[in-house]
Amino acid sequence: MSYDLLIKNGTVVDGLGTPRFRADVAVANGNIAAIGKITDGAKQTIDASDLIVAPGFVDPHTHYDAQICWDPVLSSSALHGVTSVMMGNCGVGLAPCKPAVRDIAAWDLVNVEAIPFDVLSRGIGWEWETFPEYLEAARQRGSGINLGFMAPLTPFRHYVMGEESMDRAATTAETAQIKALLQEAVRAGAFGFTTTAIPQHIGYQGRPLACRQASREELKAYANGLKELGKGTIELALTATAAELSEEEYGLLDFLLTESGRPVTWLGVVSRDDKPEAGPDLLRRAEPLIKRGGIPQVTCRPFVIQINLRNPFIFANHPSWNPVFNRPTEEQIRVYRDPAFRQAFRTELEKPRIFSGRWERLEVKEVSNPAMKALEGKTVAEIARMRGKDGLDTFLDLGIEDELKIEYTIVLFNANDDLIPALITDPRTLIGLSDGGAHVDMLCDAGYCTYLLGTWVREKQALSLEYAVQRLTSEPANFFGVRDRGRLAVGMAADLVVFDYNTVGSGRRPEMHYDLPGNGRRLLMPAQGIQSTIVNGVVLYNQQQHTGALPGQVLRS
Ligand SMILES: [Zn+2]
Repeated sequence: MSYDLLIKNGTVVDGLGTPRFRADVAVANGNIAAIGKITDGAKQTIDASDLIVAPGFVDPHTHYDAQICWDPVLSSSALHGVTSVMMGNCGVGLAPCKPAVRDIAAWDLVNVEAIPFDVLSRGIGWEWETFPEYLEAARQRGSGINLGFMAPLTPFRHYVMGEESMDRAATTAETAQIKALLQEAVRAGAFGFTTTAIPQHIGYQGRPLACRQASREELKAYANGLKELGKGTIELALTATAAELSEEEYGLLDFLLTESGRPVTWLGVVSRDDKPEAGPDLLRRAEPLIKRGGIPQVTCRPFVIQINLRNPFIFANHPSWNPVFNRPTEEQIRVYRDPAFRQAFRTELEKPRIFSGRWERLEVKEVSNPAMKALEGKTVAEIARMRGKDGLDTFLDLGIEDELKIEYTIVLFNANDDLIPALITDPRTLIGLSDGGAHVDMLCDAGYCTYLLGTWVREKQALSLEYAVQRLTSEPANFFGVRDRGRLAVGMAADLVVFDYNTVGSGRRPEMHYDLPGNGRRLLMPAQGIQSTIVNGVVLYNQQQHTGALPGQVLRS
């Protein structure tokens, strides 16, 4: 027999934790047809001598809902060997949506996921109104990798309740309608629904994101909806304070697990070097929930974010910063100069939330004022010492001196490498949190898979290659109930990644590209050591070059 594709002489790591073994892998009709010593020919052959052959990676947490319209390949993930993604997370997305209120859905994505409005208004196709139509539009457009959709609660509430969805709980009649629409979405293929309970998730015009107004009765109805269907999962963003789970948040998780009878994944557990025990403590405390299927997500990357004072996203949960959001530059500068503002911010930092007030973690990435060039690469703390001022004043003064064009990078969480292995090797966690497609000019963690393999497996030997691949493939696939992917076995869909164990990896800092609609900018992390990404039996990337194929499918629950 002749196969469509033959990968010869590779070392197979199957995604189930089995010790690696040498074998050829044959593909026919988009599926894995044979594994072993294969002598039959194929239309196309890849020589994988000295290379690892693994199932394609499955990313459980992305926000590509809009990006699929202008970047069907989803290069930021595909480059790193990701072959399936879950999107629609954290309660925000683009369907269902009536034509008259498209801008509101877009503004929610601006505020929660920091995708520029100009990019969204130029880039989104809007060929849909209902959620099933959105899935169908994605299928017709085609995609490089496989797309799994979660139904985000915000647009569903808005579709039924209009703008009041941002102000109040739904009535019994509205709740029944929203529940029916969510069930329709899951029947059409959605893998469940998503929401958020974090206060900094603000939506249109700074109002609370609509899904945050859902009452317990509403959430009970929606969770019961999944129980009735016997399928689907729930994703929610939690932990208003990093690496801590409040009583209320614990109660909400417990409630959703009970009312849905389905797996629930939540964000997230990060490490804090000011409180090294916080992450492990949180896992211990959440263990009763985890045993019932309430799985927290962790990231294996240091959480490095690029920020500026025009769009100071990380300070959104500081009341003193409210007057600077979505304002003209001159007005922002006036606020930043104001001693009263500085004093209020200084007081708020005594109880840190996201930013801990550690100015040595903030580094000057880029300036536009030539007189300031020498400051690039220095931390705010260093410059403060040079100037004899404190960090807070220095941070704001530098912004004003550069007309708010200065770009900073900051390591927010996972700053201490010694604290990360405990979280990523813990079987109670799901590795993810790439946020692919969100915060496009602030961070790019879509390459977490190559970072895990290069940094944590090869360099630091925190976990075995076999376990790492399992964590990137069958674990997320199993969580969502994707049965035919996430493992390398005969009969499975042929989603494969071929990589060089000696060079696989990715760096700590991404590169800026100006290729979004309207020349908008985004950060992109280059991948190392990935030879081929294969989706449904078709080579999507070869030596980091897109082959032109769009072999991705819309995954259905
Ligand atoms: Zn998210």
